[in-house]
Amino acid sequence: IVRIKDLHKSYGDLEVLRGIDIDVHRGEVVVVLGPSGSGKSTMLRCVNLLEKPTSGQIIFEGADITAKGVDINGVRAKLGMVFQQFNLFPHLSVKKNVMIAQQKVLKRSKEEAEQIAIQGLKKVGLGDRVDFMPSQLSGGQQQRVAIARALAMNPHVMLFDEATSALDPELVRDVLAVMRDLARGGMTMIVVTHEMKFARDVADRVIFMDGGVVVEQGTPAEVFDHPKSERTREFLGHIS
Ligand code: ATP
Ligand code: MG
Repeated sequence: IVRIKDLHKSYGDLEVLRGIDIDVHRGEVVVVLGPSGSGKSTMLRCVNLLEKPTSGQIIFEGADITAKGVDINGVRAKLGMVFQQFNLFPHLSVKKNVMIAQQKVLKRSKEEAEQIAIQGLKKVGLGDRVDFMPSQLSGGQQQRVAIARALAMNPHVMLFDEATSALDPELVRDVLAVMRDLARGGMTMIVVTHEMKFARDVADRVIFMDGGVVVEQGTPAEVFDHPKSERTREFLGHIS
């Protein structure tokens, strides 16, 4: 469903991605691990066109979305992204936050957007918070609103960039539970995370990145229990 082909990205002289090739199949959950600065966020941001690759291609559902003339907003709607920072609109209610892109990008009516928002918020356990303002929610609840907002666009793929890293430990669990449910429901997901237990339990495939390249990939058992590369071993040794 997503094919990343020889992806390079430089900022000035700094080459952050140095030829990344990743294939993600429909329904697959791919967890990306790697040290700080290895290019994980840059890779995800290239996939949903928040960054323009220096060279290489992103093929999404058979089409090169890095080609000229692609409808970027249309593509982004199908590639839902959730960040470490929730980026909710502080002046809009929870429900309105989930409605706005549906109305603007998908041209849904207010009524339809509202109905989908309420349903989605129920699904992430926030059915009783639809009229709250973001500031009245915990970080974990805000992150679940951000997930509901992305899901309301009917994405074909969900991208998560350290979605739980800014949260207090006791709030992480609820967000991971929502992500787990999504994975079980068959959503295609690319997940950058430091949550090793989540990676082990939920990932179909684990990718270890370092220095702007994919160092190693395999099933969780392969990568965690029998890492092939010294760099992977060292990284896993440091964090687990
Ligand atoms: P972390 O685990 O800390 O989130 P990461 O693997 O997500 O790290 P990236 O955010 O992709 O790493 O950054 C990779 C490198 O690219 C870093 O050295 C960073 O300083 C650099 N970088 C990222 N964005 C920019 C930018 N807009 N301009 C210049 N350099 C950037
Ligand atoms: Mg990052």
